[in-house]
Amino acid sequence: MCGAGREVVRRMGLEQAVRRENTGERGIVFTDATGRRRAAGPDGRRVLLRERFADAGGLAPRVLAALDTTDELYAEDVGQVRMDTWSRGRTVLLGDAACCPSPITGMGTSLALVGAYVLAGELAARPGDPAAAFAAYEVRMRPFADRAQRLPPGGPRLANPCTRTGIRLLHAAVRTATRPPLTALAARLASPPADAITLPRYDGDPTGR
Ligand SMILES: Cc1cc2nc3c(=O)[nH]c(=O)nc-3n(C[C@H](O)[C@H](O)[C@H](O)COP(=O)(O)OP(=O)(O)OC[C@H]3O[C@@H](n4cnc5c(N)ncnc54)[C@H](O)[C@@H]3O)c2cc1C
Repeated sequence: MCGAGREVVRRMGLEQAVRRENTGERGIVFTDATGRRRAAGPDGRRVLLRERFADAGGLAPRVLAALDTTDELYAEDVGQVRMDTWSRGRTVLLGDAACCPSPITGMGTSLALVGAYVLAGELAARPGDPAAAFAAYEVRMRPFADRAQRLPPGGPRLANPCTRTGIRLLHAAVRTATRPPLTALAARLASPPADAITLPRYDGDPTGR
């Protein structure tokens, strides 16, 4: 945590902190109202990251040094996809294209896989009527997607505090949540709503349920 809306993380997300996971990944996150990142190409992104994290300390110098040697630089806006409708004519959206929830919430893979299962099932159940299948797929998936897209209270602003008080509050919250008696409860609260859909059974369902 380095203030000024910046953050250096081993792995994105409170959930991983709570579960004490360490996948060896490193990331840097920052809030940016200027839109400069969008305009910058890969080299421009390196320049921008160096500017923003120059005085950040902690792990930041190591991450910045690695920018010169890594061939795995991934830089993207954190955002959600919210569409009024997921289909038109014979075209239908699935996964991130329909309802990307963002790395802040997690659940993107679950939405993509469950969506694929439901879409395949509805298409198979309504041969020759893709429009009806698409509508049924959306009716089943929408509430699940809406729930997955709910941002945690305070959202990105809380995770990237701009003031010393904000940093202290976040550190206190993470310290409390990672204390053994509270870990299970915090993990449950921080876990995304993966079971918030009852999977329908379709004829020929490979899961056999
Ligand atoms: C940093 C980060 C961390 C994440 N962490 C998690 C996590 O912990 N848990 C989780 O559940 N989700 C996580 N996600 C989200 C997850 O990766 C996505 O939600 C999921 O991959 C969406 O699946 P998808 O099939 O919809 O899209 P994608 O996996 O993006 O697949 C789309 C595919 O289409 C291909 N493609 C694009 N355009 C074309 C074209 N014109 N022609 C042909 N092919 C094309 C792409 O190359 C890609 O292979 C994370 C995402 C990011 C960025």
